[in-house]
Amino acid sequence: MARRALEIAAAGGHNLLMVGPPGAGKSMLAQRLPPILPPLNPRELLDVSMIQSIAGELAGGALSDRRPFRAPHHSASMAALVGGGLKVRPGEVSMAHNGVLFLDELPEFAPAVLDSLRQPLESGETVIARANARVTFPARFQLIAAMNPCKCGLAGTPGHTCKRGDACAADYQGRVSGPFLDRIDLRVDVPAVTAADMIGPATAESSADVAARVRAARDIQRERYLAAGHPFSPMRLHPQR
Ligand SMILES: [Zn+2]
Repeated sequence: MARRALEIAAAGGHNLLMVGPPGAGKSMLAQRLPPILPPLNPRELLDVSMIQSIAGELAGGALSDRRPFRAPHHSASMAALVGGGLKVRPGEVSMAHNGVLFLDELPEFAPAVLDSLRQPLESGETVIARANARVTFPARFQLIAAMNPCKCGLAGTPGHTCKRGDACAADYQGRVSGPFLDRIDLRVDVPAVTAADMIGPATAESSADVAARVRAARDIQRERYLAAGHPFSPMRLHPQR
């Protein structure tokens, strides 16, 4: 079901939250997203390359049409995430422009840092204000977040009872604010992998097969948008709220 959710997120450009115990494969799933997304078009490639260049991360001048995948650690500062610093440079949200921003252990991020993501999530750009200047960087990314269901990590796992009872999950999930969660379209539970899963028949499809379905879904959306007279953005398909 988690893989299906990831495919739907890829097709619709939806933000996604995965909730499950450690070792359930949440990070692995997130990393599977860029290969199933359509490649960057030339315009997007130009934007991504310019941002990488400003950040000094254009390794050897090599360009790739693979969508960016950024996974900042939960100890990241606000400046590291949304941009800033003495010599203003783009943050992770801009490095993830036209690609994927993966936030693992979502409740472990500082609340102020998560709040600072609301502007780019809403407007697709980040504005860094200085005494004598304002710098705007593009930051239209797809957010994939993952979290444990509770502090000890095992709430909801069959046979497990948290020491602190229901408060373990309620307190932990309460660390992420409602307005932030409102920006996330899909939420899926990712249960622990069981021994039965390990010995069951392999159902793994190649990324190319999934990517083909994602591309077909986006083609349908493009036609629908154009027919309705709406501009079509391949990164985020649904209109901005
Ligand atoms: Zn717990």
